Amino acid sequence: MAGKQWMGEEWRIKDFQGKILDWFDKNKRSMPWRDDPAPYRVWVSEIMLQQTRVDTVIPYFNRFLERLPSVENLADVEEDELLKLWEGLGYYSRARNLKAAATELINNHGGKLPETASELQKLKGIGEYTAGAIASIAFGEKVAAVDGNVFRVMARLTENRGDLRDNRLKNILKREAERLLPDRRIGDFNQGMIELGALVCISRVSPKCAECPVTEYCLSFNHGTQVMIPYKSKGRDRSIQNKTVLLIRCKDKFAIRKRPGNALLGGLWELPLEEGHLTAEDVQKRLESQGMKIKEILFLKNTKAIFSHLEWRIHGYAVTLWESSLEEAAGDTMKVAETEEATPALVWATGEEIGLKYPMASAYSEYTDELHFFSKKPLIFPVYEAIREKISQLPGVNSKVQKTQITFTAENAFAWVWLPIRKLRDRPENYLILTFGLDHQVVHPRIVQAVEPYPNRWTHHVIIENVTEIDEEIMSWIIQAYHFARGKKSKSRAKGK
Ligand code: SF4
Repeated sequence: MAGKQWMGEEWRIKDFQGKILDWFDKNKRSMPWRDDPAPYRVWVSEIMLQQTRVDTVIPYFNRFLERLPSVENLADVEEDELLKLWEGLGYYSRARNLKAAATELINNHGGKLPETASELQKLKGIGEYTAGAIASIAFGEKVAAVDGNVFRVMARLTENRGDLRDNRLKNILKREAERLLPDRRIGDFNQGMIELGALVCISRVSPKCAECPVTEYCLSFNHGTQVMIPYKSKGRDRSIQNKTVLLIRCKDKFAIRKRPGNALLGGLWELPLEEGHLTAEDVQKRLESQGMKIKEILFLKNTKAIFSHLEWRIHGYAVTLWESSLEEAAGDTMKVAETEEATPALVWATGEEIGLKYPMASAYSEYTDELHFFSKKPLIFPVYEAIREKISQLPGVNSKVQKTQITFTAENAFAWVWLPIRKLRDRPENYLILTFGLDHQVVHPRIVQAVEPYPNRWTHHVIIENVTEIDEEIMSWIIQAYHFARGKKSKSRAKGK
């Protein structure tokens, strides 16, 4: 549909602009960069918002601005500290480009951002949309800011069924968006269009047309085609690579290493990552050949890391080393073989140090989260080992370690002790989940929650918080409950249940 036919006379455009601005005034969400749209703040926020949701960005933005409140601070910051501030936000080249652009501003622009979109686009990391957003919001330049939200709105308004992957279509929609720009409050108008796409003219599910201020101008709405538009053809498939992550712990330290600068996630730190899916035996052989003395290897769950063009399918192992490994290896000289690139040396750091100093790749956060969890709760492993050791001394009881769970089996009964890592991440302190055979209800002052038994009523879970050591009280309770379960199971069987 040609633009003129769609919107028609000038007064209709003015009416459309007024409706978008009124709607924005009433419905805009409060955002720290909106409440104070200084150029530096708008720039940082727009870079953070690329590929990232507003809710995710806000805490990162506040932390970033607190530490780096000016272009000068950004230009001076060390890369590790910069990436630490960005840790978890993804697309780390954005952070590096910000710093490079800040240096350029200090060297050649007196530390100030240029005020036009065309000049802004000369800075690293600033593309056409971002330049339009900064120039219109921070400097009032009459220029469109057409992001994915606005492309969707424009495609529906004009009922254009073309393929949104096609740059020719994008150019047509951009020209239409430019035609709609008002002479004043351009930044607000652009934000209004973006906000309309984010809140009302939403993707995937049906747009909320009943809440839309411009239905009368929307061809898709008027023809009932809005759920079919925009069309986007399937992108190319991601290639798949198998990897194995190793969470290697020795005493209170974990092995990490820095990814080479030119690799994917370059410059970030990571848990050692091996090519292919290794078996526990492979892991053992490989690490022993590097001089490590292995105490225990536990299989962690499988996960995926998805990048725009690539998917890693990851297996993970938690490897505990005997303490002498670290002493003999003189701290940071042990290496783990990797075929992808030259292997950087391992660095051994406590969880606290990692949390404070090392920007970690969060692409496979299933494992890095475990590292943080263990680190923040360093007594969990000793607790785990103490329970196993003490219970294994009970007559007629066998214990088996699987992942983060210990299973105890005796003649007629079973009990599990779980140290769940992810299921109850909101728990404030160390905790154990104890699962007992049968459905006996256990009352204990330290039990904070009894989890619903499974539907077959053969098990019952209880959660105990603030477990920092296996004291006599907890131990005797575990043993009593275990024997209680055994006895009850035996009785049940005797009754033929
Ligand atoms: S009327 Fe519906 S489809 Fe059209 S712009 Fe508004 S929300 Fe989008």
